[in-house]
Amino acid sequence: MARTLLQGGHVIDPGNAIDRVADVLIVDGKVAQLGPALDPGDAEVIDVTGKVVAPGLIDIHCHLRDPGFPEREDFQSGTRAAARGGFTTLIAMPNTNPVCDHPVVAEYVLAKSKRVGIVNVLPYGAITIGQQGQELAPYVDLVAAGCVAFSDDGQPVMNSGLMRRALIQAKAINKVLAVHCEDKTITGEGVINDGEVSRRLGIKGIPYTSEAVMVARDILLAEETAGQVHICHVGCARSVELIREGKKRGINVSGEVIPHYLNTTEEDMVTMEGRFKIKPPFGSKRDQEALKEGLVDGTIEVIATDHAPYTLAEKQRDFLREAPFGLIGLETALGVVLTEMVHSGLMSLSDAIAKLTCNPARLLGLNKGTLGIGQDADLVVIDPDQEWQVKVSENESRSRNCPQDGRWLKGKAVLTMVGGRIVMQDGKILA
Ligand SMILES: [Zn+2]
Repeated sequence: MARTLLQGGHVIDPGNAIDRVADVLIVDGKVAQLGPALDPGDAEVIDVTGKVVAPGLIDIHCHLRDPGFPEREDFQSGTRAAARGGFTTLIAMPNTNPVCDHPVVAEYVLAKSKRVGIVNVLPYGAITIGQQGQELAPYVDLVAAGCVAFSDDGQPVMNSGLMRRALIQAKAINKVLAVHCEDKTITGEGVINDGEVSRRLGIKGIPYTSEAVMVARDILLAEETAGQVHICHVGCARSVELIREGKKRGINVSGEVIPHYLNTTEEDMVTMEGRFKIKPPFGSKRDQEALKEGLVDGTIEVIATDHAPYTLAEKQRDFLREAPFGLIGLETALGVVLTEMVHSGLMSLSDAIAKLTCNPARLLGLNKGTLGIGQDADLVVIDPDQEWQVKVSENESRSRNCPQDGRWLKGKAVLTMVGGRIVMQDGKILA
């Protein structure tokens, strides 16, 4: 039997209300025992004194680009990036080529990621066939093939009647729709947030209503159908208010914040670099504060990365017209969250970890995200006080489109374990 003892760490397992110094014994890939001063016996002992031991992070929003775009990322590079960032489970968005709208694609994602990946990967199914917004995907078949939720991320479902039927069908099988809220008729040719900076630079802006109109619509549809809607990458203050109000009314709505929005605003767009171009666009300082308030008061229960790799050549195209929207974030998410939310004093470490572990697991019904006895030994050891400078040139991800490059962050994953196997230690991939 393979036995490992993580000794002397500060265990934070918000799903089980654990926040104290304890040892964790792992036997044959499962959490076997958790408590003070456990007898190591013949276990391999890893001293984690002074470090935090937490459930492995779960990212319910990332793009691994397989099948279809290996020049941007694949299951090998994407899961190595995840391991480096402390993530042990990824839910991959379906906007691949082909789109994950058929059981065969879901089966491919599961089989290929298992073969070449080093962390767990589970697929989203598409909301509509080809993400074309015309016809619903076969949800029952996709779930049977392993899809855990549905999303057309990157593409809004503009047809409200179709979105309503999607919510009804997903509810019938107890699944969540994760929605990219954008009314493209409002976005138009907009590139950055419509506001002070866009006016100063003379760049076409994207009004906040491009997002908020669709957030309001989807919350209304969730209210009427009792379906469950999850708002992806919430970007503006008005959307946070809408979600807060929806929750007060008892509507099944949840939301996620992407860490980049916690330390980046429209002011960063003045350099007009592709590595800041994202949808929804980075908003004002006030939008940023609203996202933080939403995280603190529980309006927003999930933190996800929206890791969206693009090649340098793609990102170096004309900023105003051709460069694609989207940024990578698996390797910096934890550092940004700890720096902006925990070291700043806004939130406890336990609350921050909950938004990266048990909360997303509960939302999608995954049997993950805690260190309960008998659970898979997916965990991360965090040095919360390590200060480090982001260097995208050292990334495991195949892409480099990251707004954090060059910034200093405080807090880092120093060991990642998946199913009892150490896949990353001190920044090095071991698998
Ligand atoms: Zn999106």
